[in-house]
Amino acid sequence: MFSELQSQHSVAVTLISGFLGAGKTTLLNHLLTHVQGLRMAVLVNDFGAINIDSELIVQQSQTMMTLANGCMCCTVESDLIAQLEQLLGPDGPQPERLLIEASGLSSPQKIVSTLRYPQFRQRLHIDAVITLLDAAQHGTLPAPMAALAQEQLEVADIIVLNKVDSITPSQLATLKQQWLYPNARVIESRYAAVAPELLLGHGGSACGRSLRPVPTQEHAEQFVSHSFETQRLFRLAPLRRLLRQLPVGVYRAKGILRLEGYPDRRCLLHHVGTRSELSLDPPEFGLPGLSQLVLIGLRTGFDEARLTAALQACLAP
Ligand SMILES: [Zn+2]
Repeated sequence: MFSELQSQHSVAVTLISGFLGAGKTTLLNHLLTHVQGLRMAVLVNDFGAINIDSELIVQQSQTMMTLANGCMCCTVESDLIAQLEQLLGPDGPQPERLLIEASGLSSPQKIVSTLRYPQFRQRLHIDAVITLLDAAQHGTLPAPMAALAQEQLEVADIIVLNKVDSITPSQLATLKQQWLYPNARVIESRYAAVAPELLLGHGGSACGRSLRPVPTQEHAEQFVSHSFETQRLFRLAPLRRLLRQLPVGVYRAKGILRLEGYPDRRCLLHHVGTRSELSLDPPEFGLPGLSQLVLIGLRTGFDEARLTAALQACLAP
């Protein structure tokens, strides 16, 4: 692609955006598994204090960088700049492509403006902003979340309309008629399985368009995360009960857990909106040293002390 030739040392950046639980890590893993022969660097941002997503990334021979405990567009923007300086510096790994997974609460527009700072202008170019949309959950988001999710859609060059298999054809038609993303190319997917050639080499970003101003309020003021770590084992039945009864303010939960009765398998927990999924990884993934869990939601209606107590009640003695 022409844009990849615009500077000999210019790194092509793909920014993967999308609301909490839309499938960003799954898409990133799909790209890493299916793209060969390209020196890639990966930068993963997790809003929670524990970077669960980076633990779930397939380990290839790429450069892996992480930003945790905040949103890369506001709270940890300075860390983003420092990581980019290091990556693109003379002693850096000189990747050909950088895949950035934003946190589910990040504003891609603000990340794009950071990527356009003068010190990066010659050294990277934005190939595309990809925003994932969870077909099943999008219509159910509470107001502040819906506004943020909409902002993420409006900036995108490419929309991956994900989890289309979880709604009916007529629901899908209704969703598409809402014109949530008037400017982007749309690709429907299940499990974020999209051919890399449809996503990479887009050759330019629509982010130069003038968009509505980004709110200056930091995302950490509106949203909150709660991390939980323990060496004790979780019991399955009370954990399932808890997931069914999570307060509505808790929109997203993810974790890598040790379960009672499964001494050699790690359990992955994903909760989005009102849907929860617990799955066991094959034994070759091994058992983590401890269980780690992150819950993310609106600051209002999020009682950390009660969540900790509820989680502790799920542990085996
Ligand atoms: Zn932010």
